[in-house]
Amino acid sequence: MNTVEIKKVLKEQKEYFDSGKTLPVEERIIALESLKNCIIKNEALVSDALFKDFRRPGFEAYATEIGSILEEINKAIKEIKSWVAPVKISTPPVLFSSKSEIIHNPYGLVLIMGAWNYPFALSLVPLVGAIAAGNCVIVKPSEVSSNSSKVIARIIKESFDQKHIRVIEGGVEIATKLLSQRFDYIFFTGGTTVGKIVVKAAAKNLTPCTLELGGKSPCVVNDASNLALVAKRIVWGKFINAGQTCIAPDYILVKKDLKEDLITNLQNTITTFYGANPEESYDYCRIVNKNHFDRLTLLMKSGKVVFGGKTDKKHLYISPTLITEVTWKDKIMKEEIFGPILPIITYDNIDQVITKMKKQEKPLAVYLFTEDSYLQTRIKNETSSGGLCINATILHTTNMELPFGGVGNSGIGKYHGYFSFQTFSHQKAVMSKSFWPDLDISYPPYKEKLFLLKKIWG
Ligand code: NAD
Repeated sequence: MNTVEIKKVLKEQKEYFDSGKTLPVEERIIALESLKNCIIKNEALVSDALFKDFRRPGFEAYATEIGSILEEINKAIKEIKSWVAPVKISTPPVLFSSKSEIIHNPYGLVLIMGAWNYPFALSLVPLVGAIAAGNCVIVKPSEVSSNSSKVIARIIKESFDQKHIRVIEGGVEIATKLLSQRFDYIFFTGGTTVGKIVVKAAAKNLTPCTLELGGKSPCVVNDASNLALVAKRIVWGKFINAGQTCIAPDYILVKKDLKEDLITNLQNTITTFYGANPEESYDYCRIVNKNHFDRLTLLMKSGKVVFGGKTDKKHLYISPTLITEVTWKDKIMKEEIFGPILPIITYDNIDQVITKMKKQEKPLAVYLFTEDSYLQTRIKNETSSGGLCINATILHTTNMELPFGGVGNSGIGKYHGYFSFQTFSHQKAVMSKSFWPDLDISYPPYKEKLFLLKKIWG
């Protein structure tokens, strides 16, 4: 699609939005129902695309994408009437004869740009919020997971009037063309480097943005008890989608005397989950493409591989791999891993961990395994991250009542459930005052009135 065609699409969407068709709540519900039905109808196509892109097992396809999108849609349909209802706000006595409220206006034209690792969820979950808030939307899925991108385009074409919601597929070139247009809101999921490009482009038009980015999410293991269960929860969160998850535990920080025990438990769990040869497991994914495969195999050269380390470029396979003896100076500790390689670093006391976390960029998630409530409180209060999950991995993002988003380098803004609706709505302050009575106190001439004002405001 060239720039002239993109401009035409935007013009049509602007006209559609200005016609007011997206405003009635009933219309928003119809749009959400339509998306839901289309996803259910095309569930097999979605699973199939995810299998082609990642060899993703059906269970993970449903749990991480199809199910979570349907859950978001169901919640929006159920709660949208209360979300759009004006929020009554108290008004101070000095503003007597006035009423205050917050109302939610849609922004208008929204651009959603997705990342490749959970292609459906990262395009369609924000879309649910954008529809619920009453916007017109252009979705640009990632070109990297190309099979999924095609199915997203098909689902959206089947579900909506293209003037309302439309997919524009493509890579960097299309993304650049889209970003050069004026949108009313941009919702971006991807890496920090591209996030900065998005913000720069948005700044030209003062377009507000949400940036859902990544980073290195640490996983701290502090207690000797329950190491088998701890390993189970870490292995699940790390190796789901072969580690290609923005909130995957990026590396483990383990108390020195627990290291060997933890490694044994991690090895046992990997074998229990994926068998002695994970290459033969139906439940273990592949790396998305050769570029990422090459990037990951380079990262594996850091430290010492103590488990796994098997690769097959032809089939984009990298086995679940544990690495020790890495230092903070190694390449693997300087960039987000985003693959099935798990470095393990030891610490002597928790102060070292907290000091290190404060020096690092703020991550999207922190995982902490301990039953020590004092330590839990310290990590809650003394460290900054998009989210914190205690004694589990990833699960905090599955509760739609919690906001999902980063902080600092891991992102700006939040979504899921009601937070998505808020993100895609402008919260407008409205005050309505009656004509009478109309006291003279605030009008000039001010003589003698300052005293009275100070009395009222105390
Ligand atoms: P990416 O930044 O390369 O791409 C994201 C989107 O930006 C794609 O649609 C792509 O086409 C577009 N894009 C790429 N280069 C561009 C450029 N130069 N100019 C304009 N647009 C461009 O990210 P990715 O590789 O798809 O995803 C991996 C990253 O995303 C990781 O860092 C991961 O942590 C992060 N991520 C974050 C979340 C989250 O919810 N916070 C979820 C998934 C992935």
